[in-house]
Amino acid sequence: MTIAYEAVIGLETHIQLNTLTKIFCSCKADSWEDEPNTNICPVCTGLPGVLPVLNEKVVEKAVLLAAAMQANIQDLSFFDRKNYFYPDLPKGYQISQYDHSLATGGFLDVPVPASSDTGSDAYVRQVRIHKLHIEEDAGKTKKEKDRRYVDFNRCGVPLVEMVTEPDLRSAEEAGQYLIRLRQLLRWLGISEADMEKGNLRCDANVSIREKGSTVLNTKTEIKNVNSIDAVKDAIRKEIERQIKEVEKGNTIKPWTLDWDDNAGVLRMMRSKETEADYRYFHEPDLLPLVISPAWQARILEGLPELPLARRKRFMEEFKIPEYDADILTTERDLADYFEETARLYGGDAKKISNWLMNDVLRMRNDLGKSMQELNLTPAYLTELVKLTDDGKINSTIAKHLLQKVQESGKAPYTLVEELGLAVVSDDGAIRSVCEKIIAANPAEVQSYRDGKQSLMGWFVGQVMREMRGKADPQITQRVLKEILDK
Ligand code: ADP
Ligand code: ZN
Ligand code: MG
Repeated sequence: MTIAYEAVIGLETHIQLNTLTKIFCSCKADSWEDEPNTNICPVCTGLPGVLPVLNEKVVEKAVLLAAAMQANIQDLSFFDRKNYFYPDLPKGYQISQYDHSLATGGFLDVPVPASSDTGSDAYVRQVRIHKLHIEEDAGKTKKEKDRRYVDFNRCGVPLVEMVTEPDLRSAEEAGQYLIRLRQLLRWLGISEADMEKGNLRCDANVSIREKGSTVLNTKTEIKNVNSIDAVKDAIRKEIERQIKEVEKGNTIKPWTLDWDDNAGVLRMMRSKETEADYRYFHEPDLLPLVISPAWQARILEGLPELPLARRKRFMEEFKIPEYDADILTTERDLADYFEETARLYGGDAKKISNWLMNDVLRMRNDLGKSMQELNLTPAYLTELVKLTDDGKINSTIAKHLLQKVQESGKAPYTLVEELGLAVVSDDGAIRSVCEKIIAANPAEVQSYRDGKQSLMGWFVGQVMREMRGKADPQITQRVLKEILDK
């Protein structure tokens, strides 16, 4: 008999908050593009005789995230020193929060799409949050030839560490969790959440068990995964490895594994250190962190409607399919743009959704702009869709007009006038072109009159070509019929 296994996965993420300054000093926080060691001071490099001062924006952003996940925000929490030696940590300790962290509990709902590989339907995995705390980042080391360099720019950059319960059951679910977390962080405007840049980092804890069992077996921890695909690949490989080990009768050791993205393999880094090794104690240079009800209330005023709630509302209020609502809520900018346009338009919002998903998003991506930066504003898009509704322009012209509005920043009405894009529905103008085409094609006229009715489409096409696509097709057909059937 073969045993069916399931994976048990918990993720620990480090989120770099997008504050202007670091967590305990006024050095610039984002030094992604700066020269090494240019954004440092005595506080973040741990010189003697200086004191840290907590950046309240860090607390506010972390509280916003905790609230978005309905976590319990602690009115009293503490900072602790996590002591260890490493060249990128000049103080010899990291200021973190250990046993009294900013928030505990809460959850993130993670929609998992249907899979044709496994044949499973779409479902929602609720991932519980174990805890959430704030801490400072360490610096970076770099190896070049036989030398090692340290860069302290990143020392003291604010991080939120968020630890999930072991609620994820597959590599795919872990990937979807990160996609939804990234969406939420950007939505709240608290982090760039770009894994490639390292402002969203993830360690994955993995174990396996017999399907249906509730035990938690020994886990391994995978470090150094810096893209969502890498997280999924690494977890998949590790699940396979553990199953093989167990089937051979071996036990799983609590290793820490390093993911080598180029080689696509996991390497053992070390056997796990225990928490006692860090000699945690309360940070004596900082007061306990008190979040008063008034402060918390003020922060929570900034909590927007969240992505999944907005997705649901879009489906109900604007009667658009889930697929559309999901795409339109990937980013808050886009959701705002859609909602504003759909309201201005007032008609079938699915039309607006189609325009956005098919044309506007592609245009925006090609231009590398944000929705807010487009010349094609919600008001202009509304105007353009109404022009097609009224039959003033046809759909081919509308797509052309879309580009022109973006290029010129002029209103669709104005451009239709200026560029002569309006559909010609003037009977007389169309009639004279029809007569010209009929006179020029006696053979086709004869076979049409002899019964080859299908030639009507060809005649309409000729008139359209002559009028550069702007003839009203209904009127064209009626006029042609009148003349030909005479
Ligand atoms: P550690 O002692 O290694 O710090 P924690 O209990 O703090 O372990 O959990 C760290 C992470 O590992 C959490 O995300 C948690 O959900 C996950 N985790 C805990 N036990 C398991 C397990 N048996 N299998 C997979 N993940 C687990
Ligand atoms: Zn500093
Ligand atoms: Mg732990």
